[in-house]
Amino acid sequence: MNAGDVVVALDVGGTGMKCALVRPDGAVLHAERHATDAGRGPDAVVDTILAVAEGLAGKARADGLTPVALGVAVPGVIDEARGVAVWSANVGFRDVPLRDLARARLGLPTALGHDVRAGGLAEARLGAGRDSAHVLFVAIGTGIAAAHVVDGTAVTGAHGAAGEIGHVQVRAGGPTCGCGRPGCLEAVASAAAIGRRYTALAGVPATAADVADRAAAGEPLAADVWREAVDALADGLATGQALFDVETVVLGGGLAQAGALLLDPLRAALHERMTFHREPRLVAAALGDEAGCLGAALLALDSLEK
Ligand SMILES: [Zn+2]
Repeated sequence: MNAGDVVVALDVGGTGMKCALVRPDGAVLHAERHATDAGRGPDAVVDTILAVAEGLAGKARADGLTPVALGVAVPGVIDEARGVAVWSANVGFRDVPLRDLARARLGLPTALGHDVRAGGLAEARLGAGRDSAHVLFVAIGTGIAAAHVVDGTAVTGAHGAAGEIGHVQVRAGGPTCGCGRPGCLEAVASAAAIGRRYTALAGVPATAADVADRAAAGEPLAADVWREAVDALADGLATGQALFDVETVVLGGGLAQAGALLLDPLRAALHERMTFHREPRLVAAALGDEAGCLGAALLALDSLEK
């Protein structure tokens, strides 16, 4: 690495893209956001990704910097070894060879990664898990997904689908999940599920943030809905700990913004579920919604070392 080297990093979500020029030490020199506008179809989204990446590389050169690699994080099932976005519900990708397309367009070494694994990588190396070698990052938002990071590398699984803790069944006969099974963790305890559950019981629309506020204010129904979600999350995390035996669990995503209202009861509920397993440290994510973009930058840097 030379002084002035930067990587171009993009974190592509269903609604927006977070994009940055990042120095090898993780410092963000420039950041941009763009709309994904996934409704236009996957080809248009790919065009936007390539155009934004090319624009950032040009911006780097105009600023006297040298873009040395590109990292792109996308949602769904990702074959990181082949650089292919295999499947994505919210962006519509089906077997898109995004890494090769980007290489051809920008002429830069390119890494393609999974958005939650990229976020987990950043939290494990630069954020709330940076003092631990074994980290489970759990993002709780519209859905629930996780990244298991060992010694600074996120485990991808044999088929690019490791970490789907949201589809661990925690309530047999519970609400049907988007994946088709009843009682998945995501169907019971995601931010979306908490809002749905309260709305159904109270008869008035509410988000998970509303439920958190009302539970904190002592409203009994909100407190019940919140406790049910916390119990389900504790069941899911206990399963995760049985499988992975991590030192630190980092909670991210929108629901983690509830802070102590989530972490304190969840820590207690997880403690109750530990038998011979060692209890992990449970902490809130530190990097906010930039984690995925920083993780994409780390993937780009890692690809240069290989
Ligand atoms: Zn499911």
